[in-house]
Amino acid sequence: VIAIQGLHKAYGTLEVLKGVDVKAMPGQVISLIGSSGSGKSTLLRCCNLLEDSQQGEILFEGEAVRWRGAGLERHPADRAQVARIRTNLSMVFQNFNLWSHMTVLQNVMEAPVTVLKQDRATVEARARALLAKVGIGDKADVYPAQMSGGQQQRAAIARALCMEPRALLFDEPTSALDPELEQEVVRVIKALADEGRTMLIVTHDMRLAADVSDHVIFLHQGLIEEEGPPGTLFGAPKSQRLQQFLSASQ
Ligand code: ATP
Ligand code: MG
Repeated sequence: VIAIQGLHKAYGTLEVLKGVDVKAMPGQVISLIGSSGSGKSTLLRCCNLLEDSQQGEILFEGEAVRWRGAGLERHPADRAQVARIRTNLSMVFQNFNLWSHMTVLQNVMEAPVTVLKQDRATVEARARALLAKVGIGDKADVYPAQMSGGQQQRAAIARALCMEPRALLFDEPTSALDPELEQEVVRVIKALADEGRTMLIVTHDMRLAADVSDHVIFLHQGLIEEEGPPGTLFGAPKSQRLQQFLSASQ
């Protein structure tokens, strides 16, 4: 689905990604772990073209993302590609980012109706089914502020799913939540993994990474320090940095 090759990203003189390769095959769940500042969110934002990059290649469904220097979105020829990629890679953020002036149902329906121009009744049926699926079918008509954090995050996941994306990108989906609310969201993510969804998950929750991933990537200072199946990475970490990181995250 998505292949990143030799990605470099700097903010001014600060080099954040120094040549990272990631390949997500259809149905694969990849977790990104690493200490704060290692570049996990930046990598996810580059995938979704929320950031441009200085060097390297991003291939989406075999099609190379066009980089024309800074300000990708200013080039009209590239705009359609950016829109297509964002539609196909839905992102779920740490702080849910629901629109506070819209009900939950309106939040979930907004992008398919306005961006994809899909039929309202069709989208509404899909949105209600998705809300039921994530366990908040009774919250369709309330506003985000009237829900718990775990419910808001599940609404944000329903909103991402309503775009029917090829893959989901999660940036620390559980880190703003209390432990008991965290489990509600973890259950939803596990169910999505069981369905064979392609997902890239940045997480500090090693149990989540171990439970749902096919592949785990440990980033350290903008480079992949170690990667592999969760059993190997968590069970027999080779790099000393990863060993330290894992013992500190327990
Ligand atoms: P955390 O676990 O704390 O979320 P992270 O691994 O997601 O960390 P990033 O958010 O990718 O880390 O940030 C990597 C580095 O890039 C950090 O040093 C950060 O300060 C810097 N950085 C991130 N965004 C910007 C920005 N918009 N402008 C300048 N520097 C930035
Ligand atoms: Mg981050």
